[in-house]
Amino acid sequence: MLTQSNHLPPRDLLPSLGPMHIDSVNAEKLTSYICRISTAACLPVGCVIRNLIDPALNKATRGAISSADCHHMVNSFGSKAEAWVGALQTLTGRDDLEKLTMLPLRRAFGTKHSLVSPGRRWCPICLETDLQSGDPIYERLLWSITHVDHCAHHDCRLTNVCPTCGKKHLLEITTRQIPGFCSYCHSWLGGAVASQGSSEISINEYDRFVEDSFSCLIGSSHSIRENFDRSGIAASLRCLLDGTELTSRRISVFLGASHGIVNDWLSGKVFPSPANIFRICYCFDIAIVDFLTGCNDRFPSAASRELPTILRQQVKERRRSREINWSAVKFHLDAVVSGEITETSTLAIAKRFGLDTAQIYKRFGDEYRAASRICAEHRRTQHLAIRAARDRSLVSEVEAEVARLLSKGEFPAMKRILHTLVKRRIAVDRKRDRDIVSRVRRELLGL
Ligand SMILES: [Zn+2]
Ligand SMILES: [Zn+2]
Repeated sequence: MLTQSNHLPPRDLLPSLGPMHIDSVNAEKLTSYICRISTAACLPVGCVIRNLIDPALNKATRGAISSADCHHMVNSFGSKAEAWVGALQTLTGRDDLEKLTMLPLRRAFGTKHSLVSPGRRWCPICLETDLQSGDPIYERLLWSITHVDHCAHHDCRLTNVCPTCGKKHLLEITTRQIPGFCSYCHSWLGGAVASQGSSEISINEYDRFVEDSFSCLIGSSHSIRENFDRSGIAASLRCLLDGTELTSRRISVFLGASHGIVNDWLSGKVFPSPANIFRICYCFDIAIVDFLTGCNDRFPSAASRELPTILRQQVKERRRSREINWSAVKFHLDAVVSGEITETSTLAIAKRFGLDTAQIYKRFGDEYRAASRICAEHRRTQHLAIRAARDRSLVSEVEAEVARLLSKGEFPAMKRILHTLVKRRIAVDRKRDRDIVSRVRRELLGL
């Protein structure tokens, strides 16, 4: 007699598949690798994340990244990426999965800026090439970087829209994802090239420079990455200042940064953001690798390029915003703290005055922190009220469904009620809703 044990071949839960093209510009990303090992293990990605990866994470990181909204962060260089790499290395027995994330670049950029886009993007021609060549189909780390909009190999724009069903892939991972296939209609995502021609006009020199720089960084060897050192940026900037005979004020105008922030970079108090590092390298025509490794002998003697018009316009807008009436901002913050005005977030306050939150924080630190706490409390209260209203609505829907089933002579089974409510999008098949349905049903049936 066939039993389950001799009917099914023995299998590893997570096979130790080799990652694709690590240490090259075509390096695979961690989320694509997770999809490939899930497919190889004949398990849905959601199941692998929920039952294998999540339990392998430590308590501190588990809660923070259980949400699907955060899954793109595992390709980045923060604590989430570190936690997932650690968990997957334990599960697969590999030791090179860090190279599928931005973690090797944290020496260059720190861990404050994520640099990865929240949604899934791809180059249809690269996918088609994978398919035609018979190689494993996988998604590249470069496609996840926010600043990269084009495929350098095919000169076409990356897309996040399925050519068949037209849905946007706003999440990095979905429950049944397979590399190269749509998460919603499961059709092939590669090949569609005809519709991309018109977008080529928008590739400007600065975008191409940033994309090439990221290609260099991702494709750089381990020995080069070891030399990345952002603590040397201050020295590199001073060297640039001496070589070009520009003052810090002149450089600040050139880069569209404030004079104060350039002085902070020069003194080493703060590090330039990745966006500002790219601006410096672009304007002075320095290779990003030379700048980050401190090869000062290759620095130019004069600034050679201006920022594109769109970036300069952003700078001008920011300057105008600084002419805001600061006493009005202070008055508004005080009113929020005292409860006279209700705001949902400090970002909303900043937007009201056309400012960045950082600008308000810098000027009114204490008031900003107090307002932030009040806003968070307000959001919590709002959230609880919405949740309570939804629960009340769910209870009345369960009561109506039980009454409907009884009137039809059908037994109001838990599964039947839940199925109907989920189908009508009134409930979701999660513990919280299941508990409510179960409680109300039992009360009504007197069980
Ligand atoms: Zn491509
Ligand atoms: Zn689709």
